[in-house]
Amino acid sequence: MQVAEFIVDCIERAGGAAEPRGSDRIDALLPAALDPGGREREVVLALDPVALGQESSAELATIGSPLLDALIAHAAARGTTSVAHLTPERLRKKNLREEVERTLLFSNGRVRYEGSDPDVLCSYSVQFNFKVSFLSDERRERCYVIPVNLWSNQVNLALVEHLAAAATAERPARFPDASSVPVSAAYATAQLALRRRVGEEVARHQDRIRKRFSVEYLRISDYYAQVTRELESRRRDGDQGRTRALEGKLEAARAERERKLRELGEKYRLRLHARLTSARLLAQPKTFFRLLIDRGATTRTLTLAYDSLLGRLEPPVCEACHAEMTRVHVSAEARLLCAGCGAK
Ligand SMILES: [Zn+2]
Repeated sequence: MQVAEFIVDCIERAGGAAEPRGSDRIDALLPAALDPGGREREVVLALDPVALGQESSAELATIGSPLLDALIAHAAARGTTSVAHLTPERLRKKNLREEVERTLLFSNGRVRYEGSDPDVLCSYSVQFNFKVSFLSDERRERCYVIPVNLWSNQVNLALVEHLAAAATAERPARFPDASSVPVSAAYATAQLALRRRVGEEVARHQDRIRKRFSVEYLRISDYYAQVTRELESRRRDGDQGRTRALEGKLEAARAERERKLRELGEKYRLRLHARLTSARLLAQPKTFFRLLIDRGATTRTLTLAYDSLLGRLEPPVCEACHAEMTRVHVSAEARLLCAGCGAK
């Protein structure tokens, strides 16, 4: 995904104009909808801090900058529905302790349950829709839907199959908002996940391409082997002048074969092109509750979320590698780590 492309696309869709200048700047007419002040204005967007240094009036538009955050939020709002609401039929608020005991395993720490009632909060996710083109001797396109939970900044692929049926534009009962990471952080998470999933697809594509390539390779090799044999057979009964002429032809055939195989390699080389086509914000009430975890004299609070739509406890995140975990190792410093990080 090219950030410049995304920015240009976003601004144009919002009714403005944008023109890349070199590789690190975009001249833009920002429409009122994208300007925090609500005024249409001309601006130079710098795609890296170096460009910003060279043009003092420019504004920084990199991943994590407020401007790009605003653009992504705007893109999110351009989906079929600006915000989709995911409303479970019933919100589970009871027996959460049993759910923890059934799904999580704590080691080296003592777990206590807070007596207070769980909170129902509105938790947000962003659904990023990517389109990836796989270009070689053929062109294939695939769409990837990657929802990222803004509370935990974790990819939640299990949500994808519920999006069509469960998402509505109507706002259900109002709950206080759960905390959220910036959309740009969630976007970075989505890009990582996209890279992994595309990587798996690339392996499959390359397998198919290799098969077609080897058929073509053999066809070309066979053809030139035949040409060479034919020329060689004539050499045997020829005089010196004729032999020299044949040598020339053999050399030309070899060079032509090399060129054809090089072209073949180029034709079957897999090129990838990915872009973010749209995004939308998903709001879903979830049940949040706290556990207390003792290790020696230290007590940690772990907040967990129960997702009644998927019917599962969201796994907590390792404090070292940020991966989801179901086995929680409480370290000597009372850090909550996955089995892998805990073993280090
Ligand atoms: Zn870890």
